[in-house]
Amino acid sequence: MTTPASKPLDPSPRVLLGPGPSNVPPRVLSALGMPPVGHLDPEFVALMDEMQGMLRRVFRTENPMTLAVSGTGSAGMEAVVANLVEPGDRMLVCVNGVFGGRMVDVAGRCGAEVSRIDRPWGEVFDPSEVEAAIKAHRPKLVGIVHAETSTGALQPVDEIARIAHENGALLAIDAVTSLAGVPVEVDGWDVDAVYSGTQKCLSCPPGLAPVSFGPRAMEAIKARKTKVQSWYLDMTLIGRYWGSDRLYHHTAPINMNYALREALAIVLEEGLDARFARHLLNAQALAAGLKAMGIDYVPAEGHRLPQLNCVTIPEGVDDLAVRKRLLSEWNVEIGGGLGDLKGKAWRIGLMGYGSRRESVTLVLSALETCLR
Ligand code: PLP
Repeated sequence: MTTPASKPLDPSPRVLLGPGPSNVPPRVLSALGMPPVGHLDPEFVALMDEMQGMLRRVFRTENPMTLAVSGTGSAGMEAVVANLVEPGDRMLVCVNGVFGGRMVDVAGRCGAEVSRIDRPWGEVFDPSEVEAAIKAHRPKLVGIVHAETSTGALQPVDEIARIAHENGALLAIDAVTSLAGVPVEVDGWDVDAVYSGTQKCLSCPPGLAPVSFGPRAMEAIKARKTKVQSWYLDMTLIGRYWGSDRLYHHTAPINMNYALREALAIVLEEGLDARFARHLLNAQALAAGLKAMGIDYVPAEGHRLPQLNCVTIPEGVDDLAVRKRLLSEWNVEIGGGLGDLKGKAWRIGLMGYGSRRESVTLVLSALETCLR
């Protein structure tokens, strides 16, 4: 019996207007297809240096320990938490959606004594309640999600960073959905550790996790009494590969780094401020169209992410049927609700390359047809 020849891969040309991944510009796709070089080739090493400089500009930081961890956003989360807490250390996590919940799980697996404060999904934390929890629990590390992708809420973190430091704690933020879509001021806000992902507002395929660790965080890593639980995500070992030692740690995903290099170049060519303004403008256009259709947002005005519009599904509408139709008839993907918002919300992403006027008109006319 002969094996039937398989057909070449031919994915549908989806318009990705959900919570990520977002569409990838052709320049980034071509970078992915370039011939790999070795992970210690002088050309690759030069590219790593260049990427570190670009990541510092995008994170708005001078932190030397700024690099792309091999793995998705969750690897960035594990890298930050696993390196900053040792078994028995106290960590406080602010939970107002799925990803704060994930941070609690990760911290527990690292052996931390975890305490959490919760807010209803769609709401954000007031610095005073975080302060009260810090005073009550005396954590070494506070974790909070800057852009909660499950609810579309933007959490201000500058005041929380100040409060954490006044009380001897470090602050780690999740910037997976925020980076390159809204300002992330690592040095300006004095954030100690931050992680992100490539597949949201950077418009690169999923696969790398940009991270940055500030001076206090590096001190905490140096002062550890125990080894980091994860060999793969031990920042001291990873730092020797990205730093001047160039010690082999793992085989870097070469082509993903090509792609991220190109995605970062696009971000910096546009300019961060222009990019934030574009995200805002397109989100405003989407909001006007949704309002005309009688569709409301989950987060209150003033706390909404322009790159992730989390809206309430109108009464009597079949969530799954609408999303199926959008995909099959329009090739448009939007996200459903997660956790507490399952079946109650849609998440419309206008991220990076996808934050364009034509995305707005397409998703509005497609939705309007499906709701008729
Ligand atoms: N944190 C946030 C806010 C996210 O939105 C996501 C993914 O959507 C993650 C963490 C996890 O990232 P990944 O799915 O790339 O592992």
